[in-house]
Parts: sequence; structure tokens; C-alpha cells
Amino acid sequence: AAPEGSKHITILHTNDVHSHAVENGEEMGYAKLAGIIDKYRSENPDSLLLDDGDAVHGTTFATLVNGESVVKVMNEMGYDAMAPGNHEFNYGWQHLVKLAGELKFPMLSANVKQTDGSRLFEPYTIKEIDGVKIGIIGLTTPETAYKTNPKNVEGIEFADPVKETQAMVNEIKDKVDVVVVLGHIGQDEASTDTSLKIAQQVSGIDVFIDGHSHTVLQDGLVGGNGTLIASAGEYSKFLGVVDLYLDEKNEVISKKATLVDSKEAADIKPDADVAALVKSIQDEQKPILEEKVATSAVNLNGERENVRAGETNLGDLIADAIRDVSGADVALTNGGGIRTSIPAGDVTKGQVISVLPFGNQVVTLEVTGADIKAALENGVSAYPEPSGGFPQVSGMTFKIDTSAAAGNRVTSLMIGGKPYDPAAKYTLATNDFTAVGGDQYTMFTKYPQAGMFGSMDEALINYMQELGAANVQADGRITEVAAG
Ligand code: ATP
Ligand code: ZN
Repeated sequence: AAPEGSKHITILHTNDVHSHAVENGEEMGYAKLAGIIDKYRSENPDSLLLDDGDAVHGTTFATLVNGESVVKVMNEMGYDAMAPGNHEFNYGWQHLVKLAGELKFPMLSANVKQTDGSRLFEPYTIKEIDGVKIGIIGLTTPETAYKTNPKNVEGIEFADPVKETQAMVNEIKDKVDVVVVLGHIGQDEASTDTSLKIAQQVSGIDVFIDGHSHTVLQDGLVGGNGTLIASAGEYSKFLGVVDLYLDEKNEVISKKATLVDSKEAADIKPDADVAALVKSIQDEQKPILEEKVATSAVNLNGERENVRAGETNLGDLIADAIRDVSGADVALTNGGGIRTSIPAGDVTKGQVISVLPFGNQVVTLEVTGADIKAALENGVSAYPEPSGGFPQVSGMTFKIDTSAAAGNRVTSLMIGGKPYDPAAKYTLATNDFTAVGGDQYTMFTKYPQAGMFGSMDEALINYMQELGAANVQADGRITEVAAG
């Protein structure tokens, strides 16, 4: 309950929705989220609605129209601000700037900068509610620099979040009563920058709304300097709710975080306007997505933990498809770029786009055998741990020697049925993400792109049509060296 005589501000928040726009099991979708938001707003009009990024990319709802659909829905829901996540850059930063311009609320990031040092977005905004001034500072994970196609972030940099946050806190602290950081940063232990580190090293943050690591913090957590850290999982499974209570001098006297999930919201009706908007967008997209484009006799395995840790039949099929469309000697595509499976039966265009949602292009490079070997070494360096760079290949076979150190694990490499020649030149088909050094395929960046062959999804559709009813089994082109 509210402390006697205090002001009460409710901060509602979402993160990592990844355009899971429609209700589906635990995933509530935007209309349901909006229904819960309506309820909170009617109970307490002194509220804010914030999104912490990774909103405009993920499912065909967004990717079919480069995120425009999500912009419309978020405008309808009346968000107050959002921070761009790494996936906001998937259509290139120029397109993100365009989307941001269509939002009726600010896109905030203090640490996204152009090479001249200027910020791409406003670093913060100040909202006044019930006489309380709330500064909201946006942040974007520096991991974006290598987690998206390098060309999407060409000419921009991700500055140190600790430094930028400190600078912005210093700039606004005398002007505001409450400091909120809206940071698509995350809490993965493997990450250089985490929300915990920022809370530890920057004093003066009242609330840190976190994202990126998809962390579910049911009651938030108290980090360094007493900062309350809140994070609402992923895929619209939760609405985050932070309650702030302030005294008459606008000093925070208490704060708490909680999450609302689909079970708790079972009796709450979806917001009718948002539901109608989502449905009209779906209706427009339906004929395109439901078009039957191929048939598969078998399940095509694109499960994250499989395509990032070994050959699968879908990995083979996609690699074969891009080699076929380009006429290259060999093909390599990153397992992390394969985002879902296709069940046996009729295959729709929507399913293919879900597998390959990045709009990547097929490109060829004239590379040396030595660099193909180097590329494979890079791709299997984490093996058997799953990693996005795991190579799905065509036109070549090799073995992984797990007893050898990373960088020296690829053996028995055959190209076109013959031992590879380090000095020879081969035509390699790949996608434009790895071609420009994505997933640390830096050995490719020195090669000019020799040819372009349309998008990955078109290549896959055409190849499946060529095959007829695809009955694809993984054929052992990538194996492990037997122990002993
Ligand atoms: P989140 O940000 O939601 O936590 P994430 O996408 O950053 O997730 P992963 O799901 O591990 O994290 O995905 C990163 C991997 O996705 C990269 O290592 C790469 O393999 C793949 N990837 C990202 N962008 C592209 C792209 N444009 N083309 C191909 N693959 C990509
Ligand atoms: Zn995410």
C-alpha cells in the first residue's frame, strides 16, 4: 500500500518482445499487454510506459514490413519512450532513424554515436508527472557492434555505457527528481557491460529498466548504489510494473518492481483498439505469408542448439541452396542465422521467412583455400558449445578434432571431393552478414563481393522447388574425429 500522503508513479515496461505481437500461450501479445496497461492507467493515471528494445524484429509480423507494423502498434499503445536494442539495427541504422521518426515518442540512447562523436538519438528525455520530474536515459548494448550485420552499423559506434550514463546523470541530476535508465544491456555474465556493472559504477540511478538478456526478475533486484533493476523477460510474456512512492519534496521513499504474466492477467480483456490494429496488419500480411511455396517430406531442423553446434539437414539445405543459386564451388552460412525449424508437410513463405528473417543476401567471394580453412576454424572454435558462427556448409566436408586447440581443429578438409589446396582460389557462397565479418568471419572482409544472387529466403524457396518434395537428411559433411 502507498505510504500515507505520498505521491505514486507507476512505470510500466516491456523488453525483448521481438515482435511476438499476437497472443500465443504464455505470450500475451500487444493487445493483451495493452489491456493490462489500460487497467494500470485507470488505477493510476500517473504512469509511464517504456520499452527497452528488441521490438521491431523477430517474427514476420515485423520483418515483412521492416518493423513498420510494430511502430504503428507502439504508437497506438502510447509508449512514452523506448531504447533501441541490438535488433533494432537489423534493417540498418538509417532505417532505424526513419522508424524513430515515425514514433510518437522518443527513441533514446546515450551511447550510440556517429563517427564525428554526435549522438544518433536523444540521450534522454524528461517527463513531468504529478509535479515529479523523471529523467529517462536510454542505452544500447555495445554488443550490437558484432551481433548485427556489420554494414547495419557502419559509421556508428557504441560508446562505453558506464561513461555515457555517468555523464548524463551528471547533466540532469539537478533538474530531475528521479533518474530512470532504460538500458538494453542485460545481465549475461559473459557480457562486458551489464546493468549490474552500470548500477555499481554510476551513482544516482533510481531505477534501471533492463533488457537484452531476456532476464525474468519477478520482484526486481537491488543492485549497486541502491538502484532497483527491473526486467520483464521476453516475447510479451510479462508486463513489468515499477511502483515509485515519493514524499512531498519529491524524494523517493520507496520503490518496488513486479511482473504481471498471462496467468495473472487471465481475466483482463485485450485492448480493443490495439487488437483491431494488430488484426488488420495480420490480415494484410496473411495472403503473402500463407502462400505455399514448397513441400518437405521431413522435419527440417533449425533448432538453435542444433544449428549452432553441428550439421543439420536444414543447415545442409540452406548451404546447398546458396551454392546452387550462385554456382559457387563451396558455401558456408552461419548457424546463428537460421532461426527456426520447418515441420514436414507444406511449406509456406511465412515459414521460410521465419527461418531466415534477416533479409540477408547471397553473395560470392573468390577466396583462398587457406581462408576457407580459417573460416571453418573460426566457426568451430566454440564447438561443442553452441555459437552463432557455427558453419553450415556445402561442397566441402571436414572433421572437427575436439582434442586440438581452437584454431587448429579442422582436419580432413575436402573441397569438391579432393583435399583442399590452401593456395588455390575457390568461389565461396555465403550471406552478406558473414561476408562482411559477422560472427568473427573477419578473414572474408578483405575480399570484394564477386557476385550477388538475391535474398537467402528466395534462394531456399527456389532450391526446394527444384528438389520437389525435399527429403533431406544430414549427410555427414561435418563430423567429429573419433576419440583415441
Ligand atoms: P537477443 O538480443 O534477443 O538477446 P541475439 O540475437 O542478440 O538475442 P542470439 O540469438 O544469440 O542473440 O543471436 C546472435 C546471432 O544471430 C549471431 O551470432 C549471428 O549468428 C546471428 N545473426 C544476427 N544477425 C544476423 C544477420 N543479419 N544475418 C545472419 N545472422 C545473424
Ligand atoms: Zn532480445
